[in-house]
Amino acid sequence: MAWNVVIVGGGFGGFSAARELERRIGRRGRDAIKLTLVSEQNFLLYTPLLPEAAAGTLEPRHVVTPLRETLRHTNLQLGSLTGIDSERSVVSIRNPEGDPQELRFDRLVLAPGSVSRTLPVPGLAEHGVAFKSLADAIWLRNHVIRSLELAETVSDRQRLDELLSFVFVGGGYAGLEALAELQDFATDALSMYPAARAHGMRWMLVEAGARVLSEIDERLAAYAVGELVKRGIDVRLNTTLAAIGSDFAELSTGERIDTRTVVWTAGVTPNPVVRELGLPLDERGRIVVDERMQVAGDERVWALGDAAAVPNPTDEGRPSPPTAQHAIRQGRTAGGNVAASLGHGRARVFAYRSRGSFVNLGRYQAVAMIGGRVKLRGALAWWLARTYHMSQIPGLRRKVRAVVDWTVSLPFSRDIAEVGSIGHPRRLDASLPATEHDPRAV
Ligand SMILES: Cc1cc2nc3c(=O)[nH]c(=O)nc-3n(C[C@H](O)[C@H](O)[C@H](O)COP(=O)(O)OP(=O)(O)OC[C@H]3O[C@@H](n4cnc5c(N)ncnc54)[C@H](O)[C@@H]3O)c2cc1C
Repeated sequence: MAWNVVIVGGGFGGFSAARELERRIGRRGRDAIKLTLVSEQNFLLYTPLLPEAAAGTLEPRHVVTPLRETLRHTNLQLGSLTGIDSERSVVSIRNPEGDPQELRFDRLVLAPGSVSRTLPVPGLAEHGVAFKSLADAIWLRNHVIRSLELAETVSDRQRLDELLSFVFVGGGYAGLEALAELQDFATDALSMYPAARAHGMRWMLVEAGARVLSEIDERLAAYAVGELVKRGIDVRLNTTLAAIGSDFAELSTGERIDTRTVVWTAGVTPNPVVRELGLPLDERGRIVVDERMQVAGDERVWALGDAAAVPNPTDEGRPSPPTAQHAIRQGRTAGGNVAASLGHGRARVFAYRSRGSFVNLGRYQAVAMIGGRVKLRGALAWWLARTYHMSQIPGLRRKVRAVVDWTVSLPFSRDIAEVGSIGHPRRLDASLPATEHDPRAV
């Protein structure tokens, strides 16, 4: 009888674990070990390039990799994990139709990621938007273009302020890069919007802490902020969002900004499903694991990525930050450790020291730090970031498509077609009078 290895989550952590398991088990082990990946989507979203998809430098479909295309020896099962029954060794999942199912496991890897962290800010749920998924990126791009279009149709100064002010709350990777890419895109597009150009745009980053990008080196973060300020972006540190309405945002300083766009990127919190699993959690709600990513009390279960507190010995044992860089390496180590528990290779502890960090700030613009020292900016940093992402995007087809997008975009300005109707087909209107059927019509 085959061993059942179930991996939950088709993001960076789960995907890397599955890939490493396939590699370790090899052809000889395939009959003895059955790999199943449970995920809500059939693709891996390459989040570091999501801001470029929002800005139209990359085709949205080119920042995802279909899981079936790359994981050739893993059964992909679309669905959501809902619970674990350790005694019966089964996980409960809900399939895309909403029906409950059970899967038997002998080994279980949990990597369900995180969700946007919200705070009790009045109006946030009604008027704030997130930036975490492909749908968010596409929506935001269309919204920015629509705001520029609407600005051409009004003359009232307050309405122009509302339409042309964009507030991003939270200075992590997601917020800072999304703001930088979209501001760069909108600035390029302004040449085609005379009224918006005459009125001017306002882009603002609001961060509660004393610095941005807490995931990376402080010097690089400060360098990135310097670049944004030079571009006219208003960066407010030690400031929070106090309230938000359909046409305003109010800051903790009492300032009121006329805006119809507040993007909420103030950090992440572990996927709420981890609270339903009966596993030990830390004070931030992350699954507690040891340095081999095993969950205390059940040696058949591993957890990693944004949903787990994985200690990193190269950072004095502190839990790893929620980054793709860490999740990818954790996935590889956890995959190897699961394989080791089934007789394939040796188990290892997780340890990772980042050798370089990049922050993308728009077309041909980025800042980079390599080996903890060299700081680069501009086109060279942008090119290095491209090269790094090329090495990391899984699947040759996706690598080629991203390179083609970047190359094609070199001589052209970015596309400003607003295609928000994609995915929302118009309903047929039964109230319209029927036309007489013409038998000659084809
Ligand atoms: C816009 C943005 C930009 C970013 N930029 C960078 C960057 O430049 N560099 C960097 O290092 N990090 C970056 N990050 C952070 C990085 O994306 C995360 O740290 C990383 O994705 C975490 O990996 P993970 O495997 O834990 O979770 P994810 O990659 O989020 O994967 C979780 C997976 O689990 C699935 N899932 C969720 N719930 C269930 C369930 N109940 N059952 C089954 N499946 C489920 C999800 O659909 C998803 O496929 C960025 C994040 C965002 C949002």
